[in-house]
Amino acid sequence: EKRVYFFGNGKAEGNAKMKELLGGKGANLAEMTNLGVPVPPGFTIATKVCGEYYKSGGKWPKGLAEEVAANLAKLEKAMGMRLGDPERPLLVSVRSGAASSMPGMMDTVLNLGLNDDVIEGIIRKTGNPRFAWDIYRRFIDMFGDVVMGCDHEYFEEKIHAAKKKAGVEVDSELSAEQLHAVVEEYKKVYKQHVGKMFPQDGMDQLKHAIDAVFGSWNGARAVRYRELNKITGLLGTAVNVQAMVFGNMGEDCGTGVCFTRNPSTGQKEFYGEFLMNAQGEDVVAGIRTPIELSKLNKVMPKAYKELTRLMTRLEKHYKDMQDMEFTIQEKKLYILQTRTGKRTAPAAVRIAVDMVNERLIPKKDAVMRVTPDQLDQLLHPHFDAKAKRDVIASGLPASPGAAVGQVVFTADTAEEWRDKGKKVILVRKETSPEDIGGMDAAEGILTAFGGMTSHAAVVARGMGKCCVAGVAGLNIDYVTKKFTTGKVTVKEGDWISLDGSKGEVIKGQVPTVEPELSGEFGKFMKICDQIRTLGIRTNADTPADSKRARDFGAEGIGLTRTEHMFFEGDRIWPVRQMILAADDYAAMLTNLDMAENDKARKAVEKEYSVAKKQFEGALKQLLPLQRGDFEGIFTAMAGLPVTVRLLDPPLHEFLPQDAASQAEMARRLGVKPKVVQEKVASLHEFNPMLGHRGCRLSITYPAIARMQGRAIIEAALNVKKKGKKVLPEIMIPLVGTVAELKIVKDDIVDEINAVFKERKAKIPYMVGTMIEVPRAALTADEIATEAQFFSFGTNDLTQMTMGFSRDDAGKFLGEYVRKGIYKDDPFQKLDQTGVGKLVEMGTKLGRKVRKNLKVGICGEHGGEPSSIEFCHRVGMNYVSCSPFRVPIARLAAAQAAV
Ligand code: ADP
Ligand code: MG
Ligand code: MG
Repeated sequence: EKRVYFFGNGKAEGNAKMKELLGGKGANLAEMTNLGVPVPPGFTIATKVCGEYYKSGGKWPKGLAEEVAANLAKLEKAMGMRLGDPERPLLVSVRSGAASSMPGMMDTVLNLGLNDDVIEGIIRKTGNPRFAWDIYRRFIDMFGDVVMGCDHEYFEEKIHAAKKKAGVEVDSELSAEQLHAVVEEYKKVYKQHVGKMFPQDGMDQLKHAIDAVFGSWNGARAVRYRELNKITGLLGTAVNVQAMVFGNMGEDCGTGVCFTRNPSTGQKEFYGEFLMNAQGEDVVAGIRTPIELSKLNKVMPKAYKELTRLMTRLEKHYKDMQDMEFTIQEKKLYILQTRTGKRTAPAAVRIAVDMVNERLIPKKDAVMRVTPDQLDQLLHPHFDAKAKRDVIASGLPASPGAAVGQVVFTADTAEEWRDKGKKVILVRKETSPEDIGGMDAAEGILTAFGGMTSHAAVVARGMGKCCVAGVAGLNIDYVTKKFTTGKVTVKEGDWISLDGSKGEVIKGQVPTVEPELSGEFGKFMKICDQIRTLGIRTNADTPADSKRARDFGAEGIGLTRTEHMFFEGDRIWPVRQMILAADDYAAMLTNLDMAENDKARKAVEKEYSVAKKQFEGALKQLLPLQRGDFEGIFTAMAGLPVTVRLLDPPLHEFLPQDAASQAEMARRLGVKPKVVQEKVASLHEFNPMLGHRGCRLSITYPAIARMQGRAIIEAALNVKKKGKKVLPEIMIPLVGTVAELKIVKDDIVDEINAVFKERKAKIPYMVGTMIEVPRAALTADEIATEAQFFSFGTNDLTQMTMGFSRDDAGKFLGEYVRKGIYKDDPFQKLDQTGVGKLVEMGTKLGRKVRKNLKVGICGEHGGEPSSIEFCHRVGMNYVSCSPFRVPIARLAAAQAAV
């Protein structure tokens, strides 16, 4: 069984398709080797070995040691060097790399193979003792920290002291002798904390380093990162052992990170940073502030030209924006890593659109390049341009967006405060992988050091979080929990705002405004529309909402809730009057029916006519108001279908619950307070969600449904008269049996026919139902004989199918999700196995009877990507969601169609 894969001499045993086995880094190192890109040779221990290692409790599987030895020999031969040979010493890096990229989350050891003899050899050969001592001190530090668990801080103290003593600012200013002294100090630190001398045997070093990389897979950082990013099902990390190249041999050397396009804006330009005379991690760690990539053209034009040529080539090859690491050793360029670059939401959209225009990728690939979450970020607010800004500092615009929050200085505090419901800004000198929990908890991140590719910047962009980095003059004091910029002092808990697009730090809370959606965003949405087959409608109750949704691309309204209109302004009063009279009216009607003789009838007739007058009077007041609402919505949506749902909630929701408001109601409607109190008491229900609501109201008070039906059709006729097209769809809620549906529908149709007669005009319309009672889904074939369309009301359907009260389940649902009983909150993501079965079955049964039955979904799930994918799969005609989710639904529907 093969466990180790070689790359070098222009040929590799692996390739880019083998990510799962070789990890992203290993697979791409192999691919680049095969492409002839200058990559230092090496070999990759497969990810599955990491799994074997854990299974056996940290032992190497049989045969691995031999395979590693054989590949090392091959590497030595390719390089013409040997591990531990002072004359021609091979030095290697030992690098982690899983199938999905987890930047900085696992361990890497550089310069492995150094010992006291090898150092002497290197000094003799290179004549560069400064370089030799520099890599040795780096190696002892990294090996001690990463492999042996001797904290980096202990080493850092020593080099800090050395710099202070020498009176220099940065590491690279230390002389050879000074660095040599640092190495001796480091060895002491190592001995003190590890309890052994620093190992001199290369094979011994290598074995320990490989173990450490395996170990880092289950380190706290890596585990947390996988949790946050929902990365599951991986075999483990691969281990890449690769010949070292050196960016720190002198002024004709350097190292850097580059992107084939700008990861912040998406603009097509070479982008990146580098440091001269530096090694690997110096750029990301934010120790020195790096130089912009374009400046490399001045310092080393040949290497720059070669680098940009390779960038273009690799982007064309991978057909996506690449994030690359490079090192220049004595003017010669090496590529050490390439991967798909993480990008901000605006960059993702722009790159997708540009790459379609450049004919680099087809449209169906483009829609997969932007996640629904990224699109969501674009729909989020930014700072009001007119608002006053008290800018107290500025730095690099590391990750765009607007963040407002209270200042905290540690990742832990950020998490604690977030859990208490506070909005926080995490302020750090620089961030490290340990901080990601706190970065996730924060609204935005502010750092004093580090460049555009520093840890803080890269992680923030990946999270879609606003970040301002490298703010010069930002003095942070972790002890007193304060920072100062110039004359301003900001304490823990103070409010600040960050503008991640401009790199500004602003005192106080800057107001935000809604985003505008045009340009690249609009072009991207058009591409989505060309790919998707599912229709996208919106849930809107007002003309303003309808218009906004239309601007967002909604193709109709899937749900207009009429009850919201009942609360608007003063109209609650006729609604309340109607409710007060409704029961009397119904009771009198029954009494009248049941009266045994004329005398008895006469006795109730008077009371009946009073109640009737009250009730119908209230409905008469409501009719023009509702008609006006519908006219507004129909006008806003002219030409597109509009589904109007009849009154749904239990009537008690319209009555005041506290004594003072009840007294006020009694006064306004001219009845005794007791009458109101009794009415409220009589409408009380133990399970209002399973109570007298939905079509059940229309069964007992048909006049309400008739009034609504009339208002809808009169409004439609009025709008049509103005030359606009109207497509009304009347939706009857909470139907459980076809008989119930038929009674309500017949009433409405009867009323509508009356309207047509009065107006001497007609208009096409539909009557359909919401499928939200499980029985309706189970008998959908019967229901479909009366319903001209179905709309799955999955909020109620979930509630009733699972027996979870929507309003109370929050108390225990979290535990259900944590214990894995349900993978997700079923009210957020449609439970496809259970509730989904009813949806699928209802759709099929309905279409069996009515071939062209229009089927849609309304409710929260209509805007949730995994649920949308499900709706696409079961063949729905459309999903309907809130206006702000419409663009996300358009994208999710396109992705479902790919
Ligand atoms: P990470 O996944 O955290 O980026 P890497 O394995 O990519 O870790 O390595 C960390 C740093 O060390 C990077 O800057 C990388 O370019 C550098 N590096 C890794 N291997 C070598 C090598 N063989 N020669 C020179 N630099 C290297
Ligand atoms: Mg890397
Ligand atoms: Mg419902």
